[in-house]
Amino acid sequence: MSNGVNDTMLAYRLLDWQQPPQLVEIDVPTAGAGQVLVEVKGNGLCHSDLSMMELPEEIGRMIDWRVPFTLGHEIGGVIAAIGRGVAGFEIGEAVALVSPASCGVCSLCVRGHDSACPNGLTGRGYGRDGGLAQYVVANAPRDVIKIGSLDPRVAAPMTDAGATSYHGVRKVLHKLIPGSTAVVIGAGGLGSFAIQLLRSMSPATVIAIDNNPDRLSYVSDLGAHHTVNGVDENTAAELTKITNGEGVTVVLDFVGVDRTIAVGVGAVQPYGTYGIIGTNGGTLKRPWYGALPRDGEIITFQGSSVSDAHDVVKLAEQGLIRSDADLFPLDRVTDAYDALHHGTLRGRAVVTPNG
Ligand SMILES: [Zn+2]
Ligand SMILES: [Zn+2]
Repeated sequence: MSNGVNDTMLAYRLLDWQQPPQLVEIDVPTAGAGQVLVEVKGNGLCHSDLSMMELPEEIGRMIDWRVPFTLGHEIGGVIAAIGRGVAGFEIGEAVALVSPASCGVCSLCVRGHDSACPNGLTGRGYGRDGGLAQYVVANAPRDVIKIGSLDPRVAAPMTDAGATSYHGVRKVLHKLIPGSTAVVIGAGGLGSFAIQLLRSMSPATVIAIDNNPDRLSYVSDLGAHHTVNGVDENTAAELTKITNGEGVTVVLDFVGVDRTIAVGVGAVQPYGTYGIIGTNGGTLKRPWYGALPRDGEIITFQGSSVSDAHDVVKLAEQGLIRSDADLFPLDRVTDAYDALHHGTLRGRAVVTPNG
């Protein structure tokens, strides 16, 4: 192949439904018309990858996923080849790839609501070839973000974990006036982005809740004003004390189990918002009268939009948010997923397929 790229590469692929992915050798893809070929410098691992490995065939087929495909949907790298009809990019330029797929032309996309695009169920790393390989192709310019001086390995998780948190924070920002309070439940990957975003974009007092003391000290370093250890029968009283009896303006719940939902909704003051981002099977059971914040809102989140990814990358370039990466070479990708599964990572696990 031309452009100085080797013919074959290693890729971590889901070869069949509900089978452990394998590291295999495949052909390097070619940038077609309207595409660029990206040499992957870093691919962030996401909890959703673990669910993909378990996905039943019926569901995979229903949403038009095709096995085999290469996993990995948080991608940073450099341009390795430029397809026909693509202008404005240079070989060697550092980029990150927009993680969520969207069609760009449906009624939601044209209004800028591409995070809810009904045609976005299949994309790079979920149903089609992703970034856990030395090279990946992307549509340009729509999916390609120039990242300037930002390290592609740092930028990679911004496109999914960072952008999803940003999407949530953006939806509640208008309520975070001076004197307001924002609670983040769950100080993991997404929650630690949310805490930084709240600090850099609002004057709100930020309270982080997690049952892991290490995570709480980590997010204190990132700017959380107060930390609360775990969600239990004392949490409501603790939040009341921190807010001098006023209740909190906004809760962003990155855990989403029955208990966090009950405590989160209960903590919100009138006209406040409870937003659920974590999906761990919890349900909301509240009588409407007296148990819900008066004139309050309960909102759901659905991934992120193209503009969210651009915005988060800009914030990172300006040094207003950061992403700590635990780096793994491609031949240790299984160890990286184990660490993600067992919650032993400090930052985001980022696999570096080109060393
Ligand atoms: Zn993801
Ligand atoms: Zn669309």
